[in-house]
Amino acid sequence: MAEKSHFVSPAGHLFIVSAPSGAGKSTLCRILTERLPALRYSISTTTRSPREGEVDGVDYFFTDVETFKAGIQANQWAEWAHVHGNYYGTSAVFIDAERAAGHDVLLDIDVQGTVQLCAKYPDAITIFIMPPSSDVLRQRLEQRGADPPDIIDKRMANARREMAQHGVYRHTVINDRLETAAETLVSIVRGYQES
Ligand code: 5GP
Repeated sequence: MAEKSHFVSPAGHLFIVSAPSGAGKSTLCRILTERLPALRYSISTTTRSPREGEVDGVDYFFTDVETFKAGIQANQWAEWAHVHGNYYGTSAVFIDAERAAGHDVLLDIDVQGTVQLCAKYPDAITIFIMPPSSDVLRQRLEQRGADPPDIIDKRMANARREMAQHGVYRHTVINDRLETAAETLVSIVRGYQES
């Protein structure tokens, strides 16, 4: 979708984490940044409304469709996608500036965004987080209570499509027990940082 190449020869690693919503990715990314504080988390911009407890500039930059589309025209997004009826985009300036300064960057984006970014940043390290099963995923989405049944159905259909594409990723982590998944994720990232 975004066309311009933003590839520079950066010193910092680019870690991309994806998962169907409800697989525990946000929690795992938070644990990752707590345990590896040098990682710079890329805050995406979205047109969706904030969920309860979400803070503008922390979880996302919340914006309107018109402003988001102006960003597409201005090549502001390293990648962008339309997910569950909302736009999501990653700042190109953030990735390039942080990596050029030698910092490792962490992105939490979907599969379409990952495919776009891997074309621009072939050295990206991609990690897919899998729920233990589709049934467990549906249960988690229902227990979260954030979405009505029709949106849960949409998220489940999207999740099945995304899970079928996990082979695109260099690493897959199954989030059955949170602490085990967190340890696996931390050790994958540390492995690259120490190499
Ligand atoms: P949620 O609305 O549940 O926060 O996120 C929905 C989906 O959008 C998740 O799969 C999440 O990873 C993805 N997402 C969040 N930010 C971005 C982004 O900047 N780009 C892309 N392509 N996907 C994103």
